[in-house]
Amino acid sequence: MIELRSPAQIEEMRPAGRFVADVLTYLAGVVDVGTSLLEIDEIAHAMIRERGAESCYLDYHPSFGASPFGKVICTSVNDAVLHGLPHDYRLRDGDLVSLDFAVSVDGWVCDSALSVVVGTPRTEDLHLIEVTDRALQAGIAAAQPGGRLGDIGYAIGQVAREAELGINLDFGGHGVGRTMHEEPHLPNDGKHGRGIPLKPGLVIAIEPWFLHTGNQVVTDPDGWTLRSLDGSRGAHMEHTVAITENGPVVLTARTN
Ligand code: MG
Repeated sequence: MIELRSPAQIEEMRPAGRFVADVLTYLAGVVDVGTSLLEIDEIAHAMIRERGAESCYLDYHPSFGASPFGKVICTSVNDAVLHGLPHDYRLRDGDLVSLDFAVSVDGWVCDSALSVVVGTPRTEDLHLIEVTDRALQAGIAAAQPGGRLGDIGYAIGQVAREAELGINLDFGGHGVGRTMHEEPHLPNDGKHGRGIPLKPGLVIAIEPWFLHTGNQVVTDPDGWTLRSLDGSRGAHMEHTVAITENGPVVLTARTN
């Protein structure tokens, strides 16, 4: 069932969105050559405790996960692109790292992700991040009341196709609200004018992710981390967006 939120409820979601944005902004500044993925998780965990927020990941154990996640943030490095389980690895010069973070504050969940390059970037990685972010912005711009869900996927897919990137339809965006993954599923491609109507009050996580080549991922032996089948690197950008009478509102916008 798809739940619509009242304008007052959307206002109640803002603190969660602001906190998620603040944590990701802070962590993007922490990420550097030599930073350990476990340190990133520990910092995020300390910020959650200080805020009195609740992690959506710590005890998360969906059908596609081998065991409860056990950490509070996803850290996906290079050929890992989604659901990266933090482990004992120190970031190296040129690594491409994606951070995906969701918490509940006062009973409302917001979910956001970003990709950054550590140290000296490869030009092609910066391009992949830029295209992924452009796809996210196109998806947000298409999240208009009166439109259809397919409009969002279509906008994302168009950006990918123009950049000659593959699209994986298995893992995409989703409704978000009281829990992290709610209906509807929002594939990163779609048909304009198709799908459920976009009504004010629909809150969705829009999250394009792309690989340099191909669109296939395999699960790492850790049971969580999704890596590209061909070893190519991936980027992932995500915001939680509320559709309102006045258009899309990005609840996880980073202001600095
Ligand atoms: Mg997320």
